[in-house]
Amino acid sequence: MRAVALHADVLVATSAIWQTNCAVVRGVGAVEDGETELGGEVTGARAGAGALRGGEVFVIDSPILPDELEALPALVEQAGFPAPSGLLATHGDWDHLLGRLAFPGIALGCAESTAARMQASPGEVQRDLRAFDEEHFVERERPLSLGAVQALPVPGSCGIGTRELALYPTPGHTGDGLAILIEWASVLLSGDYLSPVELPLLGAGGTVEAYVEALERLRALVERVEHVVPGHGRVLGRARALEILEEDLAWVRDVGASSATRLRRSSRSAPPRRSAPPR
Ligand SMILES: [Zn+2]
Repeated sequence: MRAVALHADVLVATSAIWQTNCAVVRGVGAVEDGETELGGEVTGARAGAGALRGGEVFVIDSPILPDELEALPALVEQAGFPAPSGLLATHGDWDHLLGRLAFPGIALGCAESTAARMQASPGEVQRDLRAFDEEHFVERERPLSLGAVQALPVPGSCGIGTRELALYPTPGHTGDGLAILIEWASVLLSGDYLSPVELPLLGAGGTVEAYVEALERLRALVERVEHVVPGHGRVLGRARALEILEEDLAWVRDVGASSATRLRRSSRSAPPRRSAPPR
């Protein structure tokens, strides 16, 4: 698992499987006396961010392998972040939903559309995870329990410490999902769009029309940030993310117009690779 800090409040851990990204985000608490707030970052005598009142940490999406999930709490601690108090998922595909294996006691939040998808096909996530594990001889200590899933209205926002995460709907790849704008850190979590390693795909409930709409909506968000964290693949700068966005728009329109089935795959098979080398 690779880990990078994009900002004092944003870490990204990347799984060895499909370069699946997990973001750890801290929203600082109220600023203590004697500290000043500058440029969106709390500076001054902060003896570890945990000392800030009410600082809050969310873990968004997840790595995949058992040892990666096991290492996640230590990674959060080493960063000086308080223990996470919430999990979020960009969409309902199993490979983004394993956070509860690392943090079993914490509630999972997701878009209303994702909660509805999970309700409509109970056990789907666990079945897909089991199929992956069986195929790759992966053993886990405990089964995945998603707990009580909290459905978040999207578009909307979600408080984290004294900050807010902005949530935007992104159905298209699947019939559900959201993108998360971390405005103060200039980071966009795009979910399974804008990947430098994976071609656009239609999964459960995804359509060409909605995919195109999601990309159009994402363009305006990408233009506002320095970094884009896709569901799979390296973190992108704004310029590269916009290039991929235009490539994907053209690809989806082109292929989708002739045969949408070419964009579909079973959620259990390996995703198709982009032929262009990631820059
Ligand atoms: Zn994915």
